Amino acid sequence: MVRRVAVLGAGVSGLAATKSCLEEGLEPTCFERSEGIGGLWRYTDKAEEGRASIYRTVFTNSCKEMMCYPDFPFPDDHPNYMHNTRLQQYICKYAEHFDLLRHIQFKTLVTKVKKRPDFAVTGQWEVVTQRDGKEETVVFDAVMICSGHHVYPSLPLADFPGIQKFKGSYFHSREYKEPEKFRGKKVLVIGLGNSGCDIAVELSNVASQVYLSSRSGSWVMSRVWDNGYPWDMLVITRFRTWLGNILPRALSDWLYVRGMNRFFKHENFGLMPLDRASRKEPVFNDDLPSRIACGVVVIKPNVKEFRETSVLFQDGTVQDGVDVVIFATGYSYSYPFMEDDSIIKSRDNQVTLYKGILPPQLEKPTMAVIGLVQSLGPIIPTADLQCRWAIKVFQGRWMDTCWAKVSAPLFLSSLPRRYGNSTTLQTDYITYMDELASAIGVKPSVLKLLLTDPRLALEILFGPCTPYQYRLRGPGKWSGARKAILTQWDRTLQ
Ligand code: FAD
Repeated sequence: MVRRVAVLGAGVSGLAATKSCLEEGLEPTCFERSEGIGGLWRYTDKAEEGRASIYRTVFTNSCKEMMCYPDFPFPDDHPNYMHNTRLQQYICKYAEHFDLLRHIQFKTLVTKVKKRPDFAVTGQWEVVTQRDGKEETVVFDAVMICSGHHVYPSLPLADFPGIQKFKGSYFHSREYKEPEKFRGKKVLVIGLGNSGCDIAVELSNVASQVYLSSRSGSWVMSRVWDNGYPWDMLVITRFRTWLGNILPRALSDWLYVRGMNRFFKHENFGLMPLDRASRKEPVFNDDLPSRIACGVVVIKPNVKEFRETSVLFQDGTVQDGVDVVIFATGYSYSYPFMEDDSIIKSRDNQVTLYKGILPPQLEKPTMAVIGLVQSLGPIIPTADLQCRWAIKVFQGRWMDTCWAKVSAPLFLSSLPRRYGNSTTLQTDYITYMDELASAIGVKPSVLKLLLTDPRLALEILFGPCTPYQYRLRGPGKWSGARKAILTQWDRTLQ
């Protein structure tokens, strides 16, 4: 019987895990190495070791109706997309509302997680922690890893010949906080992800010139979509997902590319992804096209070579006088506290997790990795559902029928081929969420609702797939879910 659960980290995933444990009558202990909750969203002026670090101006890419905890909508007067400080306020209110803080041990670093000698029978883990120099070992029946995956910078300097000769400064985007100290400088940002684009756009207000280098291009989307509505409320719908699944691949790809080009034609801006039909995570940036059009951000191909003060690009062009290079080259997954890191194998982003959650080769399914899967959808509701699913597995209610059938390698079962090989953690949001929800009996039945509550059914089918949909029925049902769905557009407009 699983009773005591260790939760590693008190970011949005760790809070979802702690709350889900309490909901199911389990005893969670959440260990957080820093002094507060919120993880990535708790901004500090200096990057802290082992914790994600964001720049001062980070805003959410997911709107408030899509990214809330499913039984805790944002206040009506919150803007649709939020500055990190506002999201952090919401996270604190959530923790207070569900009385989670007393289950969290702050300034407590988890240094080791290892199987007990009798693991094959008990499924128990030893968790070693450090606080104020004191070490403690506690035995838990299950472990939920919520330590984040924007922590350990990926800085592939070996791919950039000549970087040692370069006389300017260079650093990873994790260290970037604000633009002022780059006033008047020539800056090269490498990487066309969300951070790279945000930083390039922000620096373009103060730097003498910004270059943005990309190896393979990227789709750039606007937060403000058709008629000014939030992009995700229009794009992430059951109807569109269903259409995408039944249409022939070529037609679905064509529609996708057309949709992505509606804001501006990527080809004309030098941003066209090499694999144009790839569904890899787009970048959200409302300002990048205009910054490019104004010439203050110049798009460049991959760097071929660094020289003392200049940079040679793959297309043969050379930029002289570059002062600073910012590597917005993403992060690597790392679990330094795992005694046996082959349990969650992480090589070239190849993570072997059943449903993106459970290490498949364990004798007992008593470990879950939360928040690692990436989709076009928001992390908070994903983490919430992953936790609810994992706890059912811990409790053995789902395990008997399904765990026995799991034979490695089984990864994200719903991973459509169109996500390509390099993005093994990517999946389709609604397909993935529905799969977890079906397994634990919380997926909304549109057909049944069409007969009993047609207004709700139509909103679920054609409206945004908001998190409340997964709290309408079954274990963890929230009585406010129906009303929240029917009033979601009111809150958006407000
Ligand atoms: P984290 O927030 O990283 O929290 C992990 C926690 O674990 C930290 O508090 C850390 O201190 C603690 N910890 C780590 N190791 C240990 C240890 N050994 N012992 C004890 N404690 C430990 N997602 C969205 O859905 N919408 C967005 O708009 C969005 N915007 C983003 C913008 C940026 C710039 C970035 C980088 C990411 C964004 N994301 C967004 C994704 C983001 O990762 C998630 O929103 C979310 O913060 C992940 O939460 P988490 O709890 O899984 O991890």
